[in-house]
This record gives sequence, C-alpha cells and structure tokens, in this order.
Amino acid sequence: MDKISPERRSANMARIRNKDTKPEMVVRRLVHSMGYRYRLHRKDLPGKPDLVFESRKAVILVHGCFWHRHADPSCGNAVIPKTRPDFWQAKLNRNVERDLRNVEDLEKLGYRVLIIWECEIRDIAMLRERIGDILGVWHGYLDC
Ligand SMILES: [Zn+2]
Repeated sequence: MDKISPERRSANMARIRNKDTKPEMVVRRLVHSMGYRYRLHRKDLPGKPDLVFESRKAVILVHGCFWHRHADPSCGNAVIPKTRPDFWQAKLNRNVERDLRNVEDLEKLGYRVLIIWECEIRDIAMLRERIGDILGVWHGYLDC
C-alpha cells in the first residue's frame, strides 16, 4: 500500500524545510494585501523570523506542523514517523526547544510573536483577524 521507501520519505520531508514553503507564501500575500510592510528572515534576530514588522515590534513565524510539532490535537500533521521513531522524537524535540528559546529571546527584545501553523492556513478569515490583532488596527492607505 505504501510504496514510498523510508529514505524517499525522509527526503520528501527534508525538502519541505525550505524557505519559501507554501504556507509562508500564503501568509506573505495575505499580510501584503492587508497593507503591512515587512522584512523577511532577518538574520540579526533570534531564529531568523519569517516576517518582521520593525515599526510595530512584531514578528510572524510560519511553522510547519511536522517540523515544529504542532501540539493541537485537531492537527493531523505532527505524527512521529513509524520508522526510527526515537530518532525523530529526539530531533523534533530539539526543534521545539529551539523554537521556545527563539520566542523567549524575541520577546526579551520587545517583539510580539505570532505563530501561524501550516494547518491554520486554510482559514483565511481567522488568519486575517489574528494578524490584525498583533499588528494593530489597519488604518487603510494612510498607513502605507
Ligand atoms: Zn497543525
């Protein structure tokens, strides 16, 4: 039934880890359509946050549910692979620890942090609301 070899599957999952993954593109387009300006992957900030809104002191992190271990029970994307579960568990736990540290460090620097999960990308209305909440009320074109 499952014709993909474990090696191939790992390769597929590794490829998901690239910078311009689709969920991030959806968020970028949405934020742009709301009129906000941002910078991408600032290397001088902890964890190179995906979107940085310097004047609003806010960042948005777009997290893949598998790599960042989405803990929501309604999310089906964060299951540990059946092959080499111990390896994956340890590896993914390290990712989670790193994420927590990055969020703490960002908050220490005065940034508000919004995490958007890959599986939340489907609900654009909800995303718009949460993005509006963290970035402040949109004042239309006066703000651009
Ligand atoms: Zn998820």
